[in-house]
Amino acid sequence: MAGQTTFTMIKPDAFGAGNSGAIIKIIEEAGFKISAAKVTKLSSERAGQFYEVHKERPFYNDLVSYMSSGPIIAMVLKKDNAVEDFRTLIGATNPAEAAEGTIRKLFATSIEANAIHGSDSDDNAQIEAGFFFSRTERF
Ligand code: UDP
Ligand code: MG
Repeated sequence: MAGQTTFTMIKPDAFGAGNSGAIIKIIEEAGFKISAAKVTKLSSERAGQFYEVHKERPFYNDLVSYMSSGPIIAMVLKKDNAVEDFRTLIGATNPAEAAEGTIRKLFATSIEANAIHGSDSDDNAQIEAGFFFSRTERF
């Protein structure tokens, strides 16, 4: 059975543009409950760790500097089938390919500055939630 937890970050471009409220409204209207949330800023070391899986990719260094360039909002979200439904809600990595109405289609400015993160598996949702929040910070 699919899990009920996913993890998201409103990325520095969307946070900086003042789109956090509009994005959270879309997330809540889609039926996700916020289990934990905080505004924080990643150091380049922490951003590098978060995206470790992409270390060998050509975009890694740029991604790490972008993700540490300003504040983000980290959130743990709850819903049935959370990971898959949230990936549908945010749309494709490249906003040019994202479906109409998705968060990335609405708010992303490039394939890098694509407004929002969503976990890609139940296991990664748990790992990523744990990267930002202790168990007792999650409701
Ligand atoms: N990214 C990038 N260039 C690319 C692919 C990805 O800058 O060609 C960035 C983008 O911010 C993306 C993140 O790296 O969200 C992680 O990439 P991934 O393939 O995991 O995409 P996601 O799971 O976020 O859709
Ligand atoms: Mg990914």
